[in-house]
Amino acid sequence: MKSYQQFINGSFVKSHSSEWIEVENPCTGEIISQVPKGDEVDAQEALEAAHKAQTAWAAKPAAERAGYLKRMATLIRANRIHLAKTLASEQAKILPLAQVEIDFTADYFDYYAGWARIYEGEIIQSDRPNENIFLFRKPVGVVAGICPWNFPFFVMARKVAPALLTGCTIVLKPSSLTPVTTFEFAQLVATLDLPKGVLNFVSGAGKTLGNSLVTSPLTDMVTLTGSVEAGQEIIRASAANVTKVSLELGGKAPAIVFEDADLDIAVKGIVDSRVIFSGQVCNCAERAYVHKNIYDKFLDKFVSAMKAVKYGDPFEEPVPDMSSQIDRAQQEKIDAMVVQAKHDGAEVLVGGKKADTPKGYYYEPTVLVNCRQDMEIVKKEIFGPVIPLLPFSEYDEAIALANDCEYGLTSSVFTTNINTVMQALKDLKFGETYVNREHFEGMQGFHAGWRKSGIGGADGKHGLMEYLQSQVAYIQF
Ligand code: NAD
Repeated sequence: MKSYQQFINGSFVKSHSSEWIEVENPCTGEIISQVPKGDEVDAQEALEAAHKAQTAWAAKPAAERAGYLKRMATLIRANRIHLAKTLASEQAKILPLAQVEIDFTADYFDYYAGWARIYEGEIIQSDRPNENIFLFRKPVGVVAGICPWNFPFFVMARKVAPALLTGCTIVLKPSSLTPVTTFEFAQLVATLDLPKGVLNFVSGAGKTLGNSLVTSPLTDMVTLTGSVEAGQEIIRASAANVTKVSLELGGKAPAIVFEDADLDIAVKGIVDSRVIFSGQVCNCAERAYVHKNIYDKFLDKFVSAMKAVKYGDPFEEPVPDMSSQIDRAQQEKIDAMVVQAKHDGAEVLVGGKKADTPKGYYYEPTVLVNCRQDMEIVKKEIFGPVIPLLPFSEYDEAIALANDCEYGLTSSVFTTNINTVMQALKDLKFGETYVNREHFEGMQGFHAGWRKSGIGGADGKHGLMEYLQSQVAYIQF
């Protein structure tokens, strides 16, 4: 079993805590690695290193900073198979999908490197003669990046790449469930001549080490990807120093299938979306509203497609469609929601229970009907391969049901009528909407949730801006 150490100020160092976090392969139950269960002192040391390094890092030309991102991309590509296997082992992600995540992450570093010569300040018209108003864009400073377990490698890059490119330094905390790929990356980073303290990786519990990262006066910005509950705790903790927060939180994405939709596209899109990574994806369809005139036909196709979904070990051949849930707690949470839904009157057409496997925390792909809008299964994030289907009669009804939600991350519509598309884009209240496809965002877009799904966002030009603050100069001459 491999042990990792904190990566602080350019070196691997022992944690001040003597406790460890054991990382389990969810499919086999085997403990594959251990990482430090770091404490507040680890957090403080990492932040001090990041703080000390920040001014000199920001003083380098952006193109020079971008050079490091390109080299990170190259290192990831050179180790792509090892990294994908590590990712598949620590979180039960089927190997091809783990490979997509690793390759996409390399591209993501390259993508943000490309912004070095593109982002710019502004010259603003003045009301006074002989005056120039300049708006400079400056790095926010020291960033604390806090990651979830579902896309640990990609979300790490989603924080590290824009932070470093803009001249911020960063302390990154992976989830305690999936820290291994991040620490493998730290070992690659250690081979670069990156200035000490620019990029630090520390592991530990959210409520201790994580909380210290958020409450320290050395932290200028916290970027969290995680649950609404963690986001709320971080908002409260950030109040002490009025620290900037950027939060990407949970979702409850509706998929609306209109009467004129191409049913094969809709069925494939929603099934793929619901079972990818065993349903543990923030922006994937969590509930579907289907027009009553096509409901029965849709249901036949949908039930067959969900019944055909295969689950198994991520390394199995032929490759299954999905694998185990991340841990027993997640499996139990999904099951409790399905039990509650049945109690509330839902009917199970496919699945509806934990899978009967000797190892792992599998949950059967599940289709629920006879659901009502007020049920927990329709309102709360499931984060598993379970989908409630609800019929609707009128356009307005579908939109109202979709918008009736405390989350506002993503949504999707399936229709062949361009007017319906444009009207729905006007009426839906979500940060992202997919039309006739399911749920994957591009690195050049802007992934940002409304309502409880977050504050701020990631990717593209607007994601870069999160890491910049303005300074306006009034220059009389
Ligand atoms: P989580 O909230 O349990 O943990 C996320 C991270 O926050 C972990 O590293 C955890 O240790 C840390 N943390 C928890 N409480 C903290 C605190 N008080 N202070 C500091 N750090 C703290 O989330 P998770 O279970 O790892 O991830 C799943 C959730 O993430 C789902 O709700 C999912 O929808 C969401 N998610 C959202 C996006 C997005 O882009 N919006 C992407 C991926 C996942």
